[in-house]
Amino acid sequence: MYDVNNIYEAFSIEEAVRLKVEHPDAKIIAGGSDVLIQIREGKLAGVDLISIQMIDELRGVSMLPDGSILIKPLTSFYEVTYNEIIERYLPTLGYAVDQVGGPQIRNIGTIGGNICNGVTSADSAATLKAYDAVLKITGPDGKRTMPYLDFSLGVGKVDLREGEILTGIIVPKESYERTYGHYIKYAMRKAMDIATMSCSANVRLSKDLKTVDRFRIAFGVAAPVPTRAVSAEAAVQGMPVGEALLDTVSKAVLQDLNPRSSWRAGKEFRLQLIKEMARRCTKEAITKAGGKI
Ligand SMILES: Cc1cc2nc3c(=O)[nH]c(=O)nc-3n(C[C@H](O)[C@H](O)[C@H](O)COP(=O)(O)OP(=O)(O)OC[C@H]3O[C@@H](n4cnc5c(N)ncnc54)[C@H](O)[C@@H]3O)c2cc1C
Repeated sequence: MYDVNNIYEAFSIEEAVRLKVEHPDAKIIAGGSDVLIQIREGKLAGVDLISIQMIDELRGVSMLPDGSILIKPLTSFYEVTYNEIIERYLPTLGYAVDQVGGPQIRNIGTIGGNICNGVTSADSAATLKAYDAVLKITGPDGKRTMPYLDFSLGVGKVDLREGEILTGIIVPKESYERTYGHYIKYAMRKAMDIATMSCSANVRLSKDLKTVDRFRIAFGVAAPVPTRAVSAEAAVQGMPVGEALLDTVSKAVLQDLNPRSSWRAGKEFRLQLIKEMARRCTKEAITKAGGKI
């Protein structure tokens, strides 16, 4: 049923990197909820696997001394949602990954696998982009960090070079303090379905709650990769809270997005979803922040 050639098991980050250098064609497997499906479908038949499941240093959520939040890639969706730090400081992310598949998938699937597969519909992706997440990557040449914004290179392609693995996802304090967010997943079914469109918005209001101090909005399935709508963010910077702001967001997001037609939905319908979800997500985030619309 699963046509696998060899399985190598790593017990440390260094060992995983070494194995990946020794076996460049081998596929990293974390929870396996994407990889195993591809093997069963025959797309990865005869593959060599490097399992990172036993690397405990790649699991968990913690707050760093500067207030940033570090999410290790092997943390399952379930563990992300019910982690106390996430519940308190990044509730939008906890909610977003709670929309993945069903309970079994949320137990086995990892947040790292969700962004390393490079899929535009990944439920964690839009929210991590809206939080300006930064990625920690380790490879044969050492460690590097990069904005998650630049990680997605194309459909199913991410900026992981020869022998590299993802070792951390950091949400900077600046991105979540005094910030309120909202995530909407539009799918044909309430469970066990990937997004037809997803949207995540983050808002920080001025102290008097009357204007927008900082705004982020990102979408899944609105382009080949999860995408931040930077034109809309710039358009509402400093704007007074109100209906005109929602009109501006819902129009401006279209400048950065290019949805396609697929069997799930046509392009026209997706464009309509983008406008409406931008409006609703922004309104909810502003309301949570204490703004009145
Ligand atoms: C029935 C079902 C329903 C699903 N529903 C949803 C849904 O609603 N929303 C959604 O977003 N997803 C959904 N998924 C997809 C899947 O659960 C996620 O993409 C999951 O997060 C993948 O994580 P994993 O640990 O299982 O990854 P794996 O399958 O182990 O790996 C996925 C990819 O990431 C790479 N990888 C994993 N970890 C690392 C690392 N640390 N460093 C470098 N590369 C790495 C692997 O090489 C592989 O290319 C569903 C899957 C199934 C089977």
